Amino acid sequence: MRERLKRPSGGRLYQRPDKVEICRSCGAPIGRNYKECKSCYNAIENIWLSDWNELIQKENISQGSEEEKLLAHIVFEQQDRYSWTLVDIAMTMIHCDTCGGEIGGGELECLDCKFAFENLWGYDVEAMNQGIMTENEHALRVGRRVLRHSHRQKKNIVKSWKFSMPIVLANELPSNRQAGFFKKIIDENKFDLSSKVYQNFEEAYIDVINNIKE
Ligand SMILES: [Zn+2]
Ligand SMILES: [Zn+2]
Repeated sequence: MRERLKRPSGGRLYQRPDKVEICRSCGAPIGRNYKECKSCYNAIENIWLSDWNELIQKENISQGSEEEKLLAHIVFEQQDRYSWTLVDIAMTMIHCDTCGGEIGGGELECLDCKFAFENLWGYDVEAMNQGIMTENEHALRVGRRVLRHSHRQKKNIVKSWKFSMPIVLANELPSNRQAGFFKKIIDENKFDLSSKVYQNFEEAYIDVINNIKE
């Protein structure tokens, strides 16, 4: 039997906000506009980049160098040995040979990207079993991928993550009941969650319940 690797943890160097903050650039809860707003982008990406920058410093590699690209390939090839944050950043530096997009995030039809994407989640299952990754960190990882490669997702999934991400960033998670509730609200287009600021999912839930138009 293959020896089970102890998975390294990730995303813990960067000090995450403990409440939902408003983005000074776009005015939305920070993280919502990952794709459109540089400050929202950084608020999420810095969690990942802190780990990456620590790695390249340790390896004495400078940012933007050829060695950094080489390291990215090594991390991607040997992803069992690295944290989820390092693997994700490595993938931003690797182009898919088939479709030319970011590996794992290219064209929806690209089988190489599909394979690279599906290959990622074994880490999460094992790391969560080992107590190395929290459910919130898993959500963060999924959410970033949805927002970053939104062309690969259904419109409502993207909507749902734009709503959730700022709250997840502040270390909250919806209960299963709440997650199902918000999914229904978004699918049925019953309530506009896109312009609201909530500190947690309970607050959002109560607002929707009290103000929904039947
Ligand atoms: Zn913003
Ligand atoms: Zn591809």
